[in-house]
Amino acid sequence: MTMLIGVDWGGTKIEALAMRADGTEIVRIRENTPAGDYEACVKMVAELALAVEARAGEPGMIGIGIPGSLDPRTGVAKGCNSTWLLGHHVEQDVVAALGGRPVRMENDADCLASSEAIDGAGAGKRVVFAVILGTGNGAGIAIDGRPHHGPNNSAGEWGHSPLPYPDLTEIPGPPCYCGKHGCQETWTSGTGFQNDFARHSGRHVRAADIMELYRSGDRMARLIYQRYLDRLARGLSVVANTLDPDIFVLGGGMSNVDELYHHLPEKIGDHTFSPVFYTPVVRAKHGDSSGVRGAAWLWKERH
Ligand SMILES: [Zn+2]
Repeated sequence: MTMLIGVDWGGTKIEALAMRADGTEIVRIRENTPAGDYEACVKMVAELALAVEARAGEPGMIGIGIPGSLDPRTGVAKGCNSTWLLGHHVEQDVVAALGGRPVRMENDADCLASSEAIDGAGAGKRVVFAVILGTGNGAGIAIDGRPHHGPNNSAGEWGHSPLPYPDLTEIPGPPCYCGKHGCQETWTSGTGFQNDFARHSGRHVRAADIMELYRSGDRMARLIYQRYLDRLARGLSVVANTLDPDIFVLGGGMSNVDELYHHLPEKIGDHTFSPVFYTPVVRAKHGDSSGVRGAAWLWKERH
């Protein structure tokens, strides 16, 4: 088996990794994303893939995680919060930038789900639902370690469903880049958490610092965290009702909030149709590296 090369094309960073077929990492390079400049991004993705290959000293197969998905019929990018990708034939353009070499390309949250399903927190679980609680809310489903898509490449687009069981203050909800209002992402991304705190306190504070305030007993931080928790639980309860995955894996900045793992399972169970909720809710084992590892795993041989 040849070496595996993964590229995680994120909204703020583009990272490339050369990895052996057993998951051992050889070399990794990370650069700031030339945000807003599509051509520069394509060029950087290709250059970083070739750079890790050159440093590893042997040829590899290239997998790429993108912040969006491709129309399965036309190949045109859709659902990208890095909006400068929208409307482009991303895979075709990257292949051209690589001189015609084949690539496999998947949504970044699908890469997280695969990475965690193959040798991460979801190893041994058949159906893994992975959520990115970062700048946005991406989600991916891995079944037997493979990303699950559907005919529209939209499986896991949980972040752009409306927040379930809204109260009167949550309708219609904040506008979302996707054109709708009150998407799950507008409430339960890290950005949504910070915005909620800012709306009520008038202070713009980073999510990690809000949690420090919460731990020190700050009342506003406590109220905002409790509401965040409830909104996230509402969103995930619908996933449990629909898919009932074997495990929920959390990634992205908010996944570093330890309290979530204590509080979420019971809260989700409050909202599910089933009176029992046994599903583990765990942090991504590979953390921020799961995106790039999942991209590399796209060429993993099927067994
Ligand atoms: Zn949306």
